[in-house]
Amino acid sequence: MCQRILIVEDEKPIADILRYGFQREGFQAECVYTGADGLRRVKEMSPDLVILDWMLPDVSGLTVCRMLTETCCIPIIMLTAKESVEDKLRGLEAGADDYIAKPFDVREVVARTRTVLRRAERTRGKNTEERPEACGNGITLRRRERVVALNGEEVELTPREYDLLVCFLEHPRMVFTREMLLEQVWGFDYPGGTRTVDIHVQRLRKKLKLQEALQTVYGVGYKYVDGPGK
Ligand code: CA
Repeated sequence: MCQRILIVEDEKPIADILRYGFQREGFQAECVYTGADGLRRVKEMSPDLVILDWMLPDVSGLTVCRMLTETCCIPIIMLTAKESVEDKLRGLEAGADDYIAKPFDVREVVARTRTVLRRAERTRGKNTEERPEACGNGITLRRRERVVALNGEEVELTPREYDLLVCFLEHPRMVFTREMLLEQVWGFDYPGGTRTVDIHVQRLRKKLKLQEALQTVYGVGYKYVDGPGK
């Protein structure tokens, strides 16, 4: 299967050069032009690697990098016009796997991408036993494999149900409106209505016995509580 690269870069000519460069080398590549779209597409397409520009119009690439490394383990290569050692260190500290200064030769970007991907593969090989993460209410997650278990028994969820569950688990006691959940889980431009959210919440309650923990906040939306008495 060909490897998928997501390019997050607001300068369209640069984004295009990169896309062509990757496609020519047999990768599947896609461009987005803002940090918000980058975060959304990572969730939707689970790319094998993200090429991330430092200077973006909405949020800085550094922030996007931090957010990504907190929630997933997709390798990131940062692009930047900044050449100081401090900036390089900040990029690497934020979780980037490599750092390439502009202007670059696209062949170098592709070559370094291959190196990072190989390294990521070796790490994955070493960590095949992912330790399940306990999330309260008897639920455990293995995020890398997107596996959910209830009291040790795996529960089958659709990709959207899984994303919705993770959204609740990551923000216990936070009240979400249906619109917020649509935006978080389905993406900004989801054409369906908020009824979709209700249906998915009902399914999660049923599949994971969350009738008490996944609460309706009347007139507002939903919240998840991770322990008794909340
Ligand atoms: Ca830029």
